Amino acid sequence: MPRFGLGVYKMTDPEESYLAMEKALQEGYTAIDTASLYGNEQQVGEALRNSNKKRQDLFITSKVWNTDQGYDETLFAFEKSLNLLQMDYLDLYLTHWPVPSKFKETYRAIERLYDEKLIRATGVSNHQVHHLEELMTTANYKPMVNQIELHPYLTQVENREFCQANNIAITAWSPLGRGKVLQDETIRQIGEQYNKTTAQTIIRWHLQGDHIVIPKSVTPSRIVENAQVFDFELTAEDMARIDALHRDERFGSHPDHYA
Ligand code: NAD
Repeated sequence: MPRFGLGVYKMTDPEESYLAMEKALQEGYTAIDTASLYGNEQQVGEALRNSNKKRQDLFITSKVWNTDQGYDETLFAFEKSLNLLQMDYLDLYLTHWPVPSKFKETYRAIERLYDEKLIRATGVSNHQVHHLEELMTTANYKPMVNQIELHPYLTQVENREFCQANNIAITAWSPLGRGKVLQDETIRQIGEQYNKTTAQTIIRWHLQGDHIVIPKSVTPSRIVENAQVFDFELTAEDMARIDALHRDERFGSHPDHYA
């Protein structure tokens, strides 16, 4: 799975979304993170088909929305997503949120999609350690990915350690804290030493922390900027200074009380 990709949440204008995805693919992005909720699966499919990339060189993630959860409902929602994307398979399909009393059945359907080779990897999103523990009591396969809110102000140490111990990859959503961590002076100063922007420094912190990272932007210059993160390395001291910024601050909902 690529460690870096484009998140496309709140890309609602079809033309703007399409252009952002087209730009990202031209700039070498190979992964796109969408969801049925985002309403742009059709544009993801179009952008990929119109690019000069081969399907097998791309990594497409989508998610089953909360109101579609349950076993049969998930299979149905998946088919709808696949039709909108006009693809034969997805690389990764996730339970979007752990809907109480539904998320285990939802995941069971995701396992079936995996067995039927309609997805290449199974996963979940917004699962806390207790959700993962409960899921694993009935799952045939551990989820391969857990996608959670993760940025310098919410470092998710417990969840990350649990996932690492269980061989579950972590994807950081809102990796830039929805843009709100970009004002951080400590990170700006660290980035300055390398001639990197605050966004690039945060993305690099994610990569070195072994998080898959999917920053979102529709602005062409930022799409380019966010990908220029493979030519420098933060020191252990830089990493520790950014880790220390944790203040348990969420910009999205809490997985235990989001409804
Ligand atoms: P993000 O942390 O990626 O921040 C995006 C915002 O930061 C943009 O709107 C833009 O204003 C700003 N930005 C981006 N690059 C910048 C740059 N170089 N300079 C200045 N500003 C910049 O926030 P996000 O969109 O919430 O999260 C990224 C992706 O994570 C989403 O698009 C989506 O794919 C995924 N996501 C998943 C869930 C989930 O429940 N699984 C929830 C939220 C987001």
